[in-house]
Amino acid sequence: MRRLIIAIDGPVGAGKSTVARRVAELLGYLYLDSGAMYRALALAALRAGVPLADAARLEALAAQSRIELQSDPSSGGRLRVLLNGEDVSEAIRSAACARAASQVAQHAGVRQHLVAEQRRLGAAGGVVMEGRDIGTAVFPDAHLKIFLDASVEERARRRLSDHRSRGENIPFEQMLAEVRERDRRDRTREVSPLVRAPDAVYLDSTALEAEEVARLIALLARRRSGEAG
Ligand code: C5P
Repeated sequence: MRRLIIAIDGPVGAGKSTVARRVAELLGYLYLDSGAMYRALALAALRAGVPLADAARLEALAAQSRIELQSDPSSGGRLRVLLNGEDVSEAIRSAACARAASQVAQHAGVRQHLVAEQRRLGAAGGVVMEGRDIGTAVFPDAHLKIFLDASVEERARRRLSDHRSRGENIPFEQMLAEVRERDRRDRTREVSPLVRAPDAVYLDSTALEAEEVARLIALLARRRSGEAG
């Protein structure tokens, strides 16, 4: 069976991370979270005091920073994110970092650096990569493309519970406004906006459990890898 490149794109809070990680586990593939790379760069920018609108300095920072994604077998295949050798897996999950990531992701030069690295990581196949532009820009020839969606209220609820589990208490209305703002930024940016690839399978996860969605995608992948011989 051929080892596929599986692209899972969709808006914030659609359940991409949980689903992509589980699909990778079911298939014995590598799970890669492209958003974590934008978050790591955002963290580097916040720490260095680089303004998030300064495209040239952010691009230079992207060129200098070593951002690595490592699968950590000691914690059930969870992804470790390293920034210049430092484990920033937890630090990049704050609400401030999420906000900053969606701003640094606006710049074409920044994207070029991170996309090149994402292509290198996924080139050999046997990967599930999640993001916003994986099926449209990073791997337009991915063997299986999924566009995972859910209602904006459900997505805000999911994000809220993620933050709560990390001890960050954010009012629902504020979270909803933030999700809407990130949607707007992701969908309207000039470079690689979030759009559904015409050949992506559209899945609405509003009323589904992550496990159901993951099993469905794994089934599609097995079929497709059989077809691909
Ligand atoms: O997926 P996650 O919420 O961790 O991503 C953080 C931010 O990085 C997103 O809001 C989005 O703006 C940006 N991003 C992107 N392209 C990707 C992945 C993430 O622009 N492939």
